[in-house]
Amino acid sequence: MSATFITQFLRVWEMVDGTQLQQDVPDKLVWNLTTDGVYSSSLAYRACFHGRVQMLGVAELWATAAPPKVKIFFWLALHRRLWTAARRRRHGLQANDDCVLCSQEPETADHLFAACVFTRELWHRLLQRVGFQFLCPNGDADLVNWWLASRREISSGFRKGFDSLVLLASWETWKERNRRTFGGAPSSVAQVLQGIQQEGAEWVSAGFRSLAPLFTP
Ligand SMILES: [Zn+2]
Repeated sequence: MSATFITQFLRVWEMVDGTQLQQDVPDKLVWNLTTDGVYSSSLAYRACFHGRVQMLGVAELWATAAPPKVKIFFWLALHRRLWTAARRRRHGLQANDDCVLCSQEPETADHLFAACVFTRELWHRLLQRVGFQFLCPNGDADLVNWWLASRREISSGFRKGFDSLVLLASWETWKERNRRTFGGAPSSVAQVLQGIQQEGAEWVSAGFRSLAPLFTP
């Protein structure tokens, strides 16, 4: 008899100890995840999510209008799963984790897409167009908290456009980061802005109308 078997036996013993069986009363199945003991398929479905940890910003992300590949990219950024220099260094893949855009701080997703001086200048110019430059991230901003706090400041009419813009700007910043990381010539903030303008116009043409006020083709 194995130790596992004995452990299980003792657990069952503890669970049934004190149970009084009643003569001539048949056994019945009871749904024990609700107080009334009544089963329904919707309750069973909800039970599948017990213990789930809801990631900050994920609900807002899936509601944002953007191409699927960009949403997956941003989901990885929120989960800190992008292969930034800091993550590569942590995994022993490279010795240096300096941000390739500014060479001043470790290259994390939070830094690349919110706190980096390059990104902040980009955001200042983007937000200036719509009069929201006061929402520009600061030097110790983290991506998700900055995004969620900023979108609360935006009027409901432009909030969807702002959400799409956060993904678009982060996507273009990531492309610039990759260009530099893999030996390409660096682009200036103005050139990245131009790239955002072109990509944004294509998103609008593809049906992401919430960006139309910013990027009318
Ligand atoms: Zn930087």
